[in-house]
Parts: sequence; C-alpha cells; structure tokens
Amino acid sequence: MKTKQYEAMIRNNIPKGYPNLVCGWPDPEHGIHWDAYRSDCMSLVDAMQPDDDAPVFKPFKEWCESERDKIPDRNDLGFYTKRCCLCQSFPGDRFAVTAFDDSMEDYDTLAVCNDCLIYIANGETPNYVSD
Ligand SMILES: [Zn+2]
Repeated sequence: MKTKQYEAMIRNNIPKGYPNLVCGWPDPEHGIHWDAYRSDCMSLVDAMQPDDDAPVFKPFKEWCESERDKIPDRNDLGFYTKRCCLCQSFPGDRFAVTAFDDSMEDYDTLAVCNDCLIYIANGETPNYVSD
C-alpha cells in the first residue's frame, strides 16, 4: 500500500464532522467527571459519624488529577474483538483516540491499532506502507 492510499483510507474512516484526531480519550470517558466528583464528596459526608468534623474536599481539578493517577494505562484499551476504527485491521490490541469536531468540544471515541496510534501521534506510517 502506498502512503497516499493509507492516508486516504484513514481520512475515509474518520467520523464525518470530527476531523481532529488526538491520542487518548477525554476524562469523562474514564469516569472522571463532575458527577463522579460530587458522588465522591457525598460519600465522604455519608461516612461521617456523629461529632465528626466536616470532611475536607479536594478541589475538582486536583481530584481529577488523582483519579487519572489511579489509572495510568487508561488509554491502552487491551484486546478488542472489533476491527480498528481507522484501518479496519483485524481484532487485536487497541488504543484510545478521540475524534473532535472543529470546536474541539464535541467528540467521538475511537479504538485504534498500534500502527494507527503511531500515525496519529507522529505521522509515521506502518511498515506495510511505502512510496
Ligand atoms: Zn489501524
């Protein structure tokens, strides 16, 4: 396969309206969001015993960081039984990639193979691609 063919194939499989690919999934896809933070805070309040002082809550940003630290490999999705979202390669190990719209606010999540992840990260095409 030629580089131009590979690039056209990737472009063709990117969800329509979401042309901006970024490695990893946003925090909410990993359960790191405002509602989870609130729930975490409420569980600290619920655990209070009579005469306990009020719990000290981490600021939201700090809480997000500590949650991220709990799952350092969160963007390594492991074995997937579906084909790569971008090159349609056979089932195998998949990695998280996000396709954002031009506002960079709305997005779609993708599970891609290692070759496609490297292409998104640094533009390097897979070994089977040549000019
Ligand atoms: Zn792929």
